[in-house]
Amino acid sequence: MRKIEHIGIAVKSLKESNLLFEKLFGQPPYKEEEVVSEGVKTSFFMNGPNKIELLEATNPDSPIAKFLEKKGEGIHHIAFDVNDINEEVIRLKNEGFVILNEIPKKGADNKLVVFLHPKGTNGVLVELCQEIK
Ligand code: ZN
Repeated sequence: MRKIEHIGIAVKSLKESNLLFEKLFGQPPYKEEEVVSEGVKTSFFMNGPNKIELLEATNPDSPIAKFLEKKGEGIHHIAFDVNDINEEVIRLKNEGFVILNEIPKKGADNKLVVFLHPKGTNGVLVELCQEIK
């Protein structure tokens, strides 16, 4: 596992939060993207070397809708950059972590992604992501 690739924040309104984070960072998001399969609309901000992803639910069954219902707005996941996502899945499985999707799926921002169950990681939803080349 390498550096933190981004931090994901669940928000009720992407439109309102885009304006808020634009004020915070002094620049607008560099990209907005919908991931239909996950029921989310996302936006991405760069602030220096740090990337922040905002996530809004697009339907009531979306994992983000459920998160907002349970916990409200806030940090949703921490994503780590990995070199070989399949290798990491095997390694972490052998270490006893519960992998939510063992087969990497296509996430936002040109990434293959895998999530670890937060029950096994002190309540933190961990995302592994590998850039699609
Ligand atoms: Zn993410």
